[in-house]
Amino acid sequence: MDNDSLVTIPIVIHVIFGDEDQNVDDERLLGQIRRLNEDFRRLNPDTALTPALFKDVAADTKVEFCLAEIDPWSESTKGITRTQTFVNEIGLTQRYWQSALGGQDAWDQNRYLNIWVCEIVEDGSIAGFAEAAKMEPAGAEGIVIDYRYFGILTSGMSSFGGGRTLTHETGHWLGLSHIWGVETGCAIDDGIEDTPLQLDRYRGCPTYPQQSCGSEDMFMNFMDLTDDACMNLFTEGQKERMRRVLFTFKPNLWIQDLCENPTTSSLSPDLQRMHLFPNPTRGHLRISLGNLTLNHRIQIRNLQGQMLSYRQLDEGISISDFPPGLYLLTLETGDQSKTFKIIKTD
Ligand SMILES: [Zn+2]
Repeated sequence: MDNDSLVTIPIVIHVIFGDEDQNVDDERLLGQIRRLNEDFRRLNPDTALTPALFKDVAADTKVEFCLAEIDPWSESTKGITRTQTFVNEIGLTQRYWQSALGGQDAWDQNRYLNIWVCEIVEDGSIAGFAEAAKMEPAGAEGIVIDYRYFGILTSGMSSFGGGRTLTHETGHWLGLSHIWGVETGCAIDDGIEDTPLQLDRYRGCPTYPQQSCGSEDMFMNFMDLTDDACMNLFTEGQKERMRRVLFTFKPNLWIQDLCENPTTSSLSPDLQRMHLFPNPTRGHLRISLGNLTLNHRIQIRNLQGQMLSYRQLDEGISISDFPPGLYLLTLETGDQSKTFKIIKTD
């Protein structure tokens, strides 16, 4: 995997609500995913606020996110589950990630990023937390965000109403520490080379510049604790760390094509909605066609570019007779085409 290819992570959001107030609507969920994508792709509207000193290290992580369109049972989905619960402050308990205890079981964490949106503490004093991505995920792996901090809010928790609690927690999920390190002090770093040493966290919206440990502080980094309106970058070093976690621990998370980010895709909606599953496969592939008709053709090639199959599009395709390995399946419709990587296993 070259270090700068675009990778897309499928998300499932589990909304766990007591009263309707906590049942965050689809529109706010979508707005939140849009903000997450902007921040990770450095397409956020406030990049101009990054100080000149840090502009060179500000990164487009080339990681983006989309709501899953195929669920673990190979059915189509919006990538959102909704569960009513009678457990108060469920985010503080070990129940939120367990259906049998009033929460919602995670979807396979090696295939999806799970985000639970629920009440963490009644007084709203905890905005969110993350359980870091691992090769062997714990049941709770993923991100929990209090419903009052999820999405772009126009009133209420204004300091953290910009949707950046999720940006910050996604950084933690992908292995990032806080910008000042795991503890306060100048001897403790965050392990990232291009983020300056910093004594402690910042809160609110400090005026620039601020100094500690002999250098200017990057308090506008997404991994500090400043207000949403006052943070605006990840660095190249943080990008590298996050991508390494992703490629090392989650090889099946980004390769499987369970959805496409609608904000950056140039494909027609029909092609965007076309998906292959299961992937990896032992031989039989299903294709979700959406509105596509069957009078298109597909080609399957190996990585050397050799054409192995050229046939009519169908809802089911067998590649059982291919040796295990990586293949490319391309569908062409008019002037657009979409190519899938398929992993054939034994
Ligand atoms: Zn944090």
